[in-house]
Amino acid sequence: MQDIRWSAFWLALLLIFACLILWATHGAVTALIVFSTAICLYLAKHLYWIHKLHRWYQKPNLSSIPNGSGVWEDIFADIYHQQRRYTRNKAQISSALDRFMHAASALPDGVVVLNEKDRIEWCNPPAETQLGLDLGKDTGQPITYLVRHSDFLKYLQEQDYSEPIKLKSWRNPEITLEMQLIPFSGKQKLLICRDITQIEKLETMRRDFIANVSHELRTPLTVVSGFLETLMDMEGAVPESTRSYFGMMSEQTGRMRHLIEDLLTLSQLESGATATQDTEIDMQAQLNMLMNEAQSLSNGKHQISLEADPGISVSGAAEELHSAFGNLVSNAIRYSPAGGNIQLKWYRRGDEAVFSVKDSGIGIEQKHIDRLTERFYRVDRSRSRETGGTGLGLSIVKHILTRHQSRLEIESVLDKGSTFSVIFPKNRVIIKHPENASADNAKTTAN
Ligand code: ADP
Repeated sequence: MQDIRWSAFWLALLLIFACLILWATHGAVTALIVFSTAICLYLAKHLYWIHKLHRWYQKPNLSSIPNGSGVWEDIFADIYHQQRRYTRNKAQISSALDRFMHAASALPDGVVVLNEKDRIEWCNPPAETQLGLDLGKDTGQPITYLVRHSDFLKYLQEQDYSEPIKLKSWRNPEITLEMQLIPFSGKQKLLICRDITQIEKLETMRRDFIANVSHELRTPLTVVSGFLETLMDMEGAVPESTRSYFGMMSEQTGRMRHLIEDLLTLSQLESGATATQDTEIDMQAQLNMLMNEAQSLSNGKHQISLEADPGISVSGAAEELHSAFGNLVSNAIRYSPAGGNIQLKWYRRGDEAVFSVKDSGIGIEQKHIDRLTERFYRVDRSRSRETGGTGLGLSIVKHILTRHQSRLEIESVLDKGSTFSVIFPKNRVIIKHPENASADNAKTTAN
C-alpha cells in the first residue's frame, strides 16, 4: 500500500513546483488561483471518500464496500480484509458458543453462569428444574434473590469455594442438592448443582447397616467374652491343656469388641456434621489424662514426655477430642519398639494451636501417608493386628477433626519415626490471659 503521507508530500511538491513555474511565466495571481483550485480539488476528493466510508460504516456490509481510488482503494481493500476476518472469527466464536450451550444444556448437572455481581447470565434446563429458575425471566437477577437458602448465602459470602456444600432443596425437602461455585475469568462464577438424593439415601443405608450390624453383634460378643472370662477365672473349669486356646479366644473376642466399638463410633460421627458440644476444653486435664493413659499402655517400655503451653486452649467436644488425641498417642506407642521416645506437645503456631505426637518408631513410607485416614487402611496388616489395631483409628481421628474444622498433618521417615499433628484453626483457639493460665506460667514438662 502506498503511504498516504508520502503521496500527499509528492503531490504538494509537484503542485508547488508547477505554481512556481506559473508564477515565473504567467504571474503570481494565476499561480495562486491554480494552487488554490488544486488544493480544493484534492480536499474535495478526500472529503468525498470520507463521506463514502462514513456511509458504509453505518451499515457495514462486505458486499457494499466502496472501491475507492488512489490511496482510498488501498484503504478500502484493507478494511475489506479486516472485515472478512472479523466476520469469519465471529462466526467461529458464535458456533463454538452454540456448541458449548448445547453441551452444557445436555449436562445432567445444573449449570448457572454468574457475572461479577453474582447476577444470572445463563443457566441450563437442569438448573432451571433444580433451582426453580426461569432463564427467560431471571436473566440479570441476583442469584441471592432466587436461591434463598441460608447455607448457600453463607457459602457465597465466605468465598471459600474449595469444597461443595450439601443442602436440602427449598422447593422439595426430599431432594438433597450438592452445590459448588467455581470462579473463572476474573470475578465470574459457575454454579454447579447436582441432585444427590439417591447417593445420600445409599450412604444413609450403608451407615445404618453398619451401625445396626455392630449393635446386633455387640450383645452376643459381650456374652461370649463374659463367659470366657468366667470360665477362665473358675478353678478347674478349664483344663491346663486347653487354657492357651481359651486365652486366644478371649483375645480375639476382645479384638472384635474393639472393632465393633470403633465401627459404632465412626457411624455416630458420620451421622452428625458438626461437633455436638462446643465448650472450652480444659487442656491441662486432657493432657494429664493422656499422659496417664500413655504410661499405662506403654507399661514402662517407652520414654514419654509432655510439653504444653498453658496459655492456650480450644473449643470443642472434650470427649471426641480426647478420643482423637488418644488414638494418636496409642498409635505412637504401638508402632514404636520398646525403648523408643514419645513426645507430646501442645503449642501455638501463628494463629493456630497444635497438638503433636512425635515418636521414634517404625515410621511410614511416603506413599502410604495420604491413605492412612481411609477406613481399614493399614501399612502392615499383621503388625496392626498384633498390636490390637482395627484400622479405623485414624479414620475416627479425621472425622472428629473435620467436625472441629481442624486438620491432621503427618510427617514420617521410615525406620526413624513419625509426627502426627492436629491443627486447630484460629476460630477454635482460645488465648488465655496470663492470670488464667496455670500457676507457674511457664511451659509444663512431664516425663
Ligand atoms: P490401626 O488400628 O491399624 O493402628 P489406624 O487407623 O490407627 O489403624 O492407623 C492406620 C495405619 O497407619 C496403621 O495400620 C499403621 O500402619 C499406620 N500408623 C499409624 N500411626 C502410626 C505411627 N505412629 N507409626 C507408624 N505407623 C503408623
